[in-house]
Amino acid sequence: MIIIFKAEATEGQVNAVRQALSHKDLMLQDIKGESTYMLGLAGDTSQLHPEEFMRFEGVEQVVRVSEPYKLSGRRFHPQDTVIDVNGRKIGGGHFAVIAGPCSVEGEDQVLSIARDVERSGAKFLRGGAFKPRSSPYSFQGLGLDGLELLKIAREKTGLPIVTEIMSSEFIEVFARDVDIIQVGARNMQNFPLLREVGYTGKPILLKRGMSASIEEMLMAAEYALLGGKSQVILCERGIRTFETATRNTLDLSAVAVLKEKSHLPVIVDPSHATGYWNLVPPMALAATAAGADGLIIEVHNQPEKALCDGQQSLTPMSFDNLMIKIQKIRNVLYDDGSES
Ligand code: PEP
Ligand code: MN
Repeated sequence: MIIIFKAEATEGQVNAVRQALSHKDLMLQDIKGESTYMLGLAGDTSQLHPEEFMRFEGVEQVVRVSEPYKLSGRRFHPQDTVIDVNGRKIGGGHFAVIAGPCSVEGEDQVLSIARDVERSGAKFLRGGAFKPRSSPYSFQGLGLDGLELLKIAREKTGLPIVTEIMSSEFIEVFARDVDIIQVGARNMQNFPLLREVGYTGKPILLKRGMSASIEEMLMAAEYALLGGKSQVILCERGIRTFETATRNTLDLSAVAVLKEKSHLPVIVDPSHATGYWNLVPPMALAATAAGADGLIIEVHNQPEKALCDGQQSLTPMSFDNLMIKIQKIRNVLYDDGSES
């Protein structure tokens, strides 16, 4: 529900409405328009009646919002959210590429890749320490040791680190050490985890579940935003369809839909979406043209020896070539030569 105040409404009149709502279990959000002031009510508003609020002085209109995603939706928050990690921004016209290996495998590996992707213009380093593998017999990641290696790579290159959390067991460590906490496709609807990560205050990279609708994804973001502390980046990473030529089907239209429905930054992962390194550049370029706020791309210095997802990893050289083309598209369509 949104309460819209008259242009001449006083602070006292707005506060009277706030006061009347204070004993209800609702989250109030300020929405400031050009000349209007609005109050967004998130939570269960089914028992509230718009007429109740029309009686307050200064209230112009009360509107029920049909979308269930109040915090992630644009209606309450018309302006784009910008995620800022030490001056590195994503969203609201700021484009950033996150790159690195699927998994952290060792110090030399992660350092070498981090240095290469940084030189090519990546703004963040990705790397899995805890890996959600389909088979329990596959490499499961280096765990906390992997996180330590990411920290070394951050120190040596200045790249903030993005890595996946799989359970709340290590939430304090992630809250302390990780710059952007990734919640993977398999955990997109792990609601207790989303709630907990939402209290860390660290930005969350939320990947779309393999069979999640856009609305389900926005509702998952809603869980993470409930804590009121963390911001969320939405990531389209392909969904399961009948098509077998690619690992998943990249739903590029999700970028346009999400940007319309939500104020949150939207990025695309062409690596997991396609599953093949040769398909990564065309889809990365298409996502850039479609208006994504960034990309997350797997890069490995020896893809043929990678312990995870080597077949979809770019070499540092092909990543470098791709970054040049991405910049060209940004320059033509978005006129921001300095951003990526
Ligand atoms: C990943 O980014 O390493 C990953 C496992 O991706 P997803 O959760 O999208 O499968
Ligand atoms: Mn991977």
